[in-house]
Amino acid sequence: MFKINDNYLKLEKNYLFSLIASKTKEYLKENPDVKLLKMGIGDVTLPLPKAVVSALNKAVFEMSKKETFRGYGPEQGYPFLRRAIKGYYAEKGVNIEEDEIFVSDGAKSDLGNILDILGKDNSVLIPDPVYPVYVDTNVMQGRKIVFLDANEENGFLPLPNEKLRADIIYICSPNNPTGATYNREQLKKWVDFALEEKSLILFDSAYERFIEDKDVPKSVYEIDGAKKCAIEFCSFSKTAGFTGVRCGYTVVPKELSVDDVLLKDLWLRRQTTKFNGVSYIVQRGAEAVFSEDGRKQVDNNMAYYKKNAKIIMKGLKECGISYTGGKNSPYIWLNCPKGKDSWEFFDLMLKKAHVVGTPGSGFGKNGKNCFRLTAFSDRESTELATEKIKELINKEFL
Ligand code: PLP
Repeated sequence: MFKINDNYLKLEKNYLFSLIASKTKEYLKENPDVKLLKMGIGDVTLPLPKAVVSALNKAVFEMSKKETFRGYGPEQGYPFLRRAIKGYYAEKGVNIEEDEIFVSDGAKSDLGNILDILGKDNSVLIPDPVYPVYVDTNVMQGRKIVFLDANEENGFLPLPNEKLRADIIYICSPNNPTGATYNREQLKKWVDFALEEKSLILFDSAYERFIEDKDVPKSVYEIDGAKKCAIEFCSFSKTAGFTGVRCGYTVVPKELSVDDVLLKDLWLRRQTTKFNGVSYIVQRGAEAVFSEDGRKQVDNNMAYYKKNAKIIMKGLKECGISYTGGKNSPYIWLNCPKGKDSWEFFDLMLKKAHVVGTPGSGFGKNGKNCFRLTAFSDRESTELATEKIKELINKEFL
């Protein structure tokens, strides 16, 4: 009889967003007139930049004509997009070759798929709390996971610890859910540690476009030696509104090898076997993100979300709630007042402030008394939600 991959049975039930949805639905059923303010979503609300839309339209038109129609494209991505990505890295002072760039349908797929080329017996170090995909994709393949505590004491930015060694190390900066970002000096510690330990860093920079501080690297390759120990995952989702369009890219530098086997060659082999590339239309849209108009429009979107973040941060400060993130990130990770449990605080926010956020415990044990708000809502809802949160805190906790 056939067998299943019983590692799937070891996965924790994905309670978080389904539980939020069912609690919200239940509350609305009993209170149909209440208008809830959704401040927990990790999805964007602004539409695609105009430059992207016109590039998409143009590409659709090209597909309608025999002379310009395109079928299967290069699995690694069209040269025009890889060239644009290379140019974007060059602006950060990083030289990446086009054949080190792999275009994909988003960072989530690549973060999961990269594990195909890594041995099952590698040990894995994952910060807690963090984006749940890292844990689940490793559980699916039966790897041993060691957790690294990210908490208030270390500013949610844990540093290498000789007692916690691992072959694969996940770093997400700017972090989801905490919004914390490693500065140059801290990131260098990780790179040095990985080089010494011969570990591989999987660096998730899905939110790099939110970074404004000069001493916070936007790419791990801004740190010397990183090309010898890190793969970087990037996405157009949150920066250019591609959550529904789907496009991202992964950088696997030539310097990364084990016994003369280049990881980049293994990844290409994996991708050419299991992936037929991102559509030409979408890649033209992604290319437009790097055009002059595209950049301005993306900057405007960033400015909009950042203003939302500022409104939330100001509100929290006014009622004495401590938080991380918000500055170089769309996420604001707050300490629940009076050390309340994150689900209890969720219920209170839902019922008394009519605000839906995300309980921190959904991202790991260290999120037990924390709560995630996002800057991705519209301005009006952000302002209203902030006022309601302030009122709730002043009334219930002060
Ligand atoms: N990495 C992090 C940290 C994320 O928060 C997300 C999405 O929420 C992703 C990756 C996935 O990005 P994509 O939409 O490109 O798959």
